[in-house]
Amino acid sequence: MINRTKTKLVKNKTLSFGSSQKILIQSMCDIKTSETKLVIKQIKKCETHGADLMRVSVLDESDALSIKKIKESVNIPIVADIHFDYKLAILAIENGADKIRINPGNIDNKENLIKIIETAKRYDTIIRIGINSGSLEKNIDGKDIPSKIVNSALKWISFFEKNNFYKLVISLKSTNALETYSAYKQFASVSDYPLHIGITESGFDEIGIIRSVAGLSPLLLEGIGNTIRISLTHDPIKEIDTIKRLLHDLNLYPDYPTIISCPTCGRCEVTNTKQIAKKVLHYCVKNKKYLTISIMGCVVNGVGEGKNADIGIAGGKNAFVIFKKGKIIKTVSEETVLKELFNEIDKF
Ligand code: SF4
Repeated sequence: MINRTKTKLVKNKTLSFGSSQKILIQSMCDIKTSETKLVIKQIKKCETHGADLMRVSVLDESDALSIKKIKESVNIPIVADIHFDYKLAILAIENGADKIRINPGNIDNKENLIKIIETAKRYDTIIRIGINSGSLEKNIDGKDIPSKIVNSALKWISFFEKNNFYKLVISLKSTNALETYSAYKQFASVSDYPLHIGITESGFDEIGIIRSVAGLSPLLLEGIGNTIRISLTHDPIKEIDTIKRLLHDLNLYPDYPTIISCPTCGRCEVTNTKQIAKKVLHYCVKNKKYLTISIMGCVVNGVGEGKNADIGIAGGKNAFVIFKKGKIIKTVSEETVLKELFNEIDKF
């Protein structure tokens, strides 16, 4: 059981971060925001897949204006990501962004930053202060990268609070797992603002997944993190899947199947267990079957090791046994095993 770190509750009419709220899953569209129809299609797909909110980048006026149409067509909140141009931040807010993400250090001057703050107050828009190791201000104090990231965030929080703005979510990202872990850990010991956690530009395939899990799991285990993005060089669906699996394995996201599958070895006398395991996961996700399912290569160890599963299969000689809670209920051929297993999953 993970004890979540206590934070402030930061909320507006569509979003709630921190306190006892669940950890929100988010990703980012990889299409230009002014391609409105394509962006709406992608956000709807992500929503069906489990995203709680989606971020879009705002590079010009047409992107900011597109937010209005996107908001009319999707059900989940939209975050606008803006760099440098305060006018785009204001336009994104005016067009309905539920939250914006800025790095205050790259908005050209403080008067313009105040204009963003005043607009966000008027529209009740949440602001994420996104500090990244790659864009730290040059003159910031700190003995190393994590402490500089934290000092930069604290400096900007103080600025926002002096301007009576408190609806803040903070991110403190680096491309390095240990630096990211250290920055969030330090910050959580001195501030109770909700945290958006993630490793920035973490990479592709296993590189990105492992780096993200290496940096984010320790934080989640210590109860740190109120919303999460895993930034992969992939489409957003892959990011959402990865987040769900990580949260599920830490008991922070119950609505997901648990698949146990053996690596197979010389004892295995059936083919295709690896493909079967993938197909079973896909079937369970698609049909919302949140069971523990065991796919084992042989009966010698399989049934025993899979006894904690709700249901499972173990290979024999060109056949599989199907078992429920460790008890064998039938033997089926390799050709029919998937059909029979899905049937039992549906009955469970
Ligand atoms: Fe090998 Fe059987 Fe263990 Fe799979 S369950 S790794 S096939 S011994």
